[in-house]
Amino acid sequence: MARPVVAIVGRPNVGKSTLFNRIIGERLAIVEDKPGVTRDRIYGTAEWNGVPFSVIDTGGIELADNDEMLQSIKAQAQLAIDEADGIIFVVDGKTGLTPSDQEVAELLYRSNKPIVLAVNKVDNPQREEAVYEFYSLGFSEVIGVSGAHGTGIGDLLDAAVAMLPQGADEEYDEDVIRIAVIGRPNVGKSSLVNAILGEERVIVSDIAGTTRDAIDTPFERDGKRYVLIDTAGIRKRGKIYENTERYSVMRAMKAIERADVALVVINAEEGIVEQDKHIAGYAHEAGKAAIFVVNKWDALEKDDKTMQRFERKIREEFLFMEYAPTIYVSAKTKQRLHRILPLVDHVADQHAMRVVTHVLNDLINDAVAMNAPPSDKGRRLRIYYATQVSVKPPTFVLFVNDPELMHFSYERYIENKLRAAFQFEGTPIRIITRRKS
Ligand code: GDP
Ligand code: GDP
Repeated sequence: MARPVVAIVGRPNVGKSTLFNRIIGERLAIVEDKPGVTRDRIYGTAEWNGVPFSVIDTGGIELADNDEMLQSIKAQAQLAIDEADGIIFVVDGKTGLTPSDQEVAELLYRSNKPIVLAVNKVDNPQREEAVYEFYSLGFSEVIGVSGAHGTGIGDLLDAAVAMLPQGADEEYDEDVIRIAVIGRPNVGKSSLVNAILGEERVIVSDIAGTTRDAIDTPFERDGKRYVLIDTAGIRKRGKIYENTERYSVMRAMKAIERADVALVVINAEEGIVEQDKHIAGYAHEAGKAAIFVVNKWDALEKDDKTMQRFERKIREEFLFMEYAPTIYVSAKTKQRLHRILPLVDHVADQHAMRVVTHVLNDLINDAVAMNAPPSDKGRRLRIYYATQVSVKPPTFVLFVNDPELMHFSYERYIENKLRAAFQFEGTPIRIITRRKS
C-alpha cells in the first residue's frame, strides 16, 4: 500500500519549511528515533486521523539553471504537480496576495490536482481577515494557519488528508514481489535493471493491465511474478530536474513506498558516500526489505580480501541496517546477477513472516529470564504479553506495565533475540510497547 504524497509549494519565505516541520513534527514525537537514521530536511512522513502520508517541502529542492525566482518556484510547482497526490499551496497572510502567487496559482489550478490553500502567518484573530483576499485565487479549500504558533494546523491536515485519493490502489496481486532499484545517479541502476530483465528465464510481460504499466515493468521468472517499480523513472534522462540529487531522492522515495524490496545500489568504484546512507535510510524507515547491491564489481582491482573489506565497510556505514544482506555484482560482466532474484525471494519471505503467538511469548519469557528488563527509580519494566500485529515489516506489540520504562538498549536486545530465533534476514522489525489496560 503506497503512502500518498503531499507537496508543499509556494514563494520563498511564506513559511513552507516551518509548516513542513509542524506537519512531520507530529510524527517525530510518537516514533522512536534510531541512531544512524539520517532524516532529510525536505522529505518526511506523517499520519493524521489514521491516514499515513509523505510530505515534501519543494522549497528545499534546488533546481539547477533556474536562477530567476519565479521560474524556480514554477519549476518546483510543476514538480509537485508531476509527483504529488495533493498539494498544499502556501501564501503569506502578512504580505498579502502577490503577482507571483497568482502565477503559481494558475499553474496549479490547471493541473486538476487536489489543492489546499494555506494562508500562513495568521498569528492572531485580528489577522484572520487576511484570509479572504486569497479566495480570489479560486481554490475552494482556504485555511488560515500560523506555522509559528501551530494554530490551524489541525484544520489544514484535515483538509489535506480529505483531498488525498481514498483507499489503497492495490495495483498488483498479493503474490507479486514489488522491487525498487534505488541509489545515487550513476551507480548503475538502469544498467542493472536492463541486465536483470535481459537475464535468461526472465519473461517481461507486455500485457497492459494497470495504469502504472507505463512506468513499472512486470516480469516473471520460474513461475514467480515480480514488478520493477518506476523503471521509467530510472531510465528517463535529461529533464532539467532529473540530475539534481534532491530530485533523485524524491523519486527514490516514491518508488520505495510502493515496493516490498529495495535494491540499494552502491558503486563499488566510488565506495559509500553520505547520500547512499540517506537513500538506504528511507528504505529502512519505510519498513521495506532491503539488499545492498554493490555494482561495478568488475571495475575494482581485487585481491582475496577485497570483498571482506567492503563488507566490513558496509556494516560500519549502515549500522542501522545490519539485517540487510549484500551481493557483489557487475551489470557489465553479468557477474552474480542470477543470484539477485533468489535473494529477493528470500528477503520478501522474511519480510512477510509471521511468528506463532505462543512461540513468540515463550521467546520473550526466556529473554526476560536471561536479562532482566530495565528499571527506573525502583520500578521495573514488566512485559506481560507479546503479539505480532502485522507483517511487511514484521511488527510486534509488547504489552507492558509502563512504556516509559522501555529502554532503547532493551528493545535492541529483544530484537536480537527475535533475529537469533527467526532470522528476519533483510527486513527491519518494529517493536511497539503499549500499556496494558
Ligand atoms: P519558506 O522559505 O517558505 O520555507 O519559509 P520559512 O518556513 O523558512 O519561513 C520564512 C520566515 O517566516 C521565517 O522567518 C519564519 O520564522 C517566518 N514564519 C513562518 N511561519 C510564520 C508564521 O506563522 N507567522 C509569522 N509571523 N512568521 C512565520
Ligand atoms: P544510473 O544513473 O544509476 O541508472 O546508472 P547507469 O546504469 O546509467 O550507469 C552509469 C554508468 O556506469 C554508465 O556509464 C554505465 O555503463 C556504467 N556501469 C553500469 N554498471 C556497470 C558495471 O557493472 N561495471 C562498470 N564498469 N560500469 C558500469
